[in-house]
Order: sequence, then structure tokens, then C-alpha cells
Amino acid sequence: MSQFFSRRFAALTPYTPGEQPRDKKYVKLNTNESPFDVPDSVVEAAKRAAAEFRLYPDPTCLALSRALEQAEGIPADRVMWGNGSDELLNFAFMAYCDGNTPAVFPDITYGFYPVFAAVNRIPTRIIPLREDFSVDMAILIRTPGTIFLANPNAPTGIALSREEVESLVRSDPDRMVVVDEAYVDFGAETVAPLTAQYDNLLVIRTFSKSRSMAGARLGYAIGDPSLIRDLETLRYANNPYNVSRVAIAAGVAMLGEEKLMRERCEKVAAQREKTAGELADLGFVLTPSKANFLFASHPDLDGGKLYRDLKERGVLVRHFDLPRIKDHVRITVGSPGDMEMLVQTVKAITEETK
Ligand SMILES: *Cc1c(COP(=O)(O)O)cnc(C)c1O
Repeated sequence: MSQFFSRRFAALTPYTPGEQPRDKKYVKLNTNESPFDVPDSVVEAAKRAAAEFRLYPDPTCLALSRALEQAEGIPADRVMWGNGSDELLNFAFMAYCDGNTPAVFPDITYGFYPVFAAVNRIPTRIIPLREDFSVDMAILIRTPGTIFLANPNAPTGIALSREEVESLVRSDPDRMVVVDEAYVDFGAETVAPLTAQYDNLLVIRTFSKSRSMAGARLGYAIGDPSLIRDLETLRYANNPYNVSRVAIAAGVAMLGEEKLMRERCEKVAAQREKTAGELADLGFVLTPSKANFLFASHPDLDGGKLYRDLKERGVLVRHFDLPRIKDHVRITVGSPGDMEMLVQTVKAITEETK
């Protein structure tokens, strides 16, 4: 830290992204990227957009909003676009929390939430998940503050039903609920349609997982027009050109590939169930994941050691050195070949520990 670094950030612990290693070629199952490349239509659109780099992008991302309306029926005045959904989550923490309104989220969830709270100097109320990592709705409902829920949750993959989320939103119209649907396309129920009925519900989505565009940095928020205006105020106060020309063009093209996207999500979900069965046969205990990853532990294996043994053998997964989940690893659902490699490698490790 330099002598010039503001004291208000002196104690800030930033988010640690998953490794993007360059030392050797890994079977990379650590950051929940898609195993599928974007279709050619997306690459071509991005190239055409790059030819116009000289010009700033459209700060309203109108082409994206129109394409989203076509693809998913979400009206343009209920959407705002972001440089990845992380940016939108940060805006939501800024917009809907302060000294009097804490951020409320589970003890085990997306590791960026505590960082967004810290960087914005927002107090937090941490809700412990039950033993099986399910959400205790009764505790959430009686805890005041703005609720942040990843649905499905990360890194457990456990999903809440639309009814459960609605009961929370309905329980107090004066409380904001932010639902992070980064993984919803892999088998959970979206609550996006409920934003038409409830002006205290904001849904945040990303192109990084189901739409194979983690490298493009594109996400969107869906909510009542009044909420969208709040977020727009913060966006224009931070970075009006937050979505690049290439990301806009590529996103529009990707929204023209909904059928392909759905098919791919189904393939990932089927592969998830297949691999879950194979790991269970090896003695692993798994959460019922509805996301594009598995969350697994083994009674005879230390989570940190399993992560290191796998890495040594060229398979990269994610391990969180946190009290309740240090014996788990999170495994992205990759291609069939990747998953076969994972299962074979895990099998070899379990046999050696016997
Ligand atoms: C991956 C992820 C995000 C962030 O995605 P972006 O790449 O910033 O769009 C947000 N929330 C959760 C729970 C995630 O796993």
C-alpha cells in the first residue's frame, strides 16, 4: 500500500477470482465458464463492431434491449446493461444499502457480496444456511435490510423455487430483494416475470455462463422502471460507456441464438447429472445442484488436498478455504471429455487414499 492510498480502503480485502493459469494446459473446471465456444454469428458480429472502434458505443445499449425484448419478452424500460453482472451487483449494493439498510445474504454464497459491501462501507447481516445448505426463509423474512440471493446459489448450486422467492418479496413491499440469476438457465426457475408485479425485486443476469461470453463482460438487470432509473443514475455517475461496442454487437448476435443456447444448457444439465452419479458411486456427497457446477465432498478426503492433487494431475477445480465448506470442491461441468478426465483422475486419487 502506498502512503497515498485512502485510509478508507486500507483494510479492504478484494475478491479473489478463480485462477486463469498459464503454466500448463489444464482441464479447466474452476470458473464455471461454458465448455462451448460462441457460434460464428457472434464472432462475425464482434469483428464488424471492432471495425468501428473509433466511435464510442451507444450508452443506452438500445440494440441489446431490443434483442432481449425479442428473445425473452422483457420490455426495454425494465432493463439496464452492465460490464458483467458484477458491475450491476455493485450498483445494487450502492443503490439499496447504507448505514441504516444493511446488506443481508447467506454465510455461504457468492464471495463477491461481502466485498461489494466492504468497498461501499455497508454493514452486513449474514444469515447462516441450514446444515444441508438450504436457505431458512423464516430467518431471512425477519431480518431487516436489502436481501441478496444467488439463485441457484453459489457454490452449492441449490435453487429456490419461484414461490419461495415470491413469498420473500411479498412479505415486505418496503424491502428490496436482489436475485442474482447467474446460473438460472441450467435448470432453476427465473423470477424475472415477477418484476412486473413487484417494484421491490431486482433480477440480475449474465452472459458469462449459459451464453458462453465470460470474456465479453456483459450482464443485465431487470426490474421496475423506477429501479432501472436508480441504477442508471449510478451508471452515468461512474461509467456511461460501460458496455463496449464489441460486447453490444456480440450480445445482440448471441440473443439471436436462443435455441442453441437452450440446447447447450440442456446438454450441460444432462452432463451434470451423469457426472454427479459417477462421483456418488465413488463415495462423494453432492448438493442437488441446478447450476453448471457440482459441489462435492468425500468423507475420506480433505478438500484442500483433493484440489491440490487434482491440480498436480492437470485438473483444475475450485476450493474455498472457508469454515463450513473447506472439505468441498466446486467442479464446473465441462465437456464430456473433460468430465471423463475428471472422474478418472478422482478415481485414481480415491484408490490411492484407500
Ligand atoms: C459468475 C457469477 C457472477 C458474475 O458474472 P459476470 O461475469 O460478472 O457477469 C455473478 N454472480 C454469481 C453468483 C456468479 O457465479
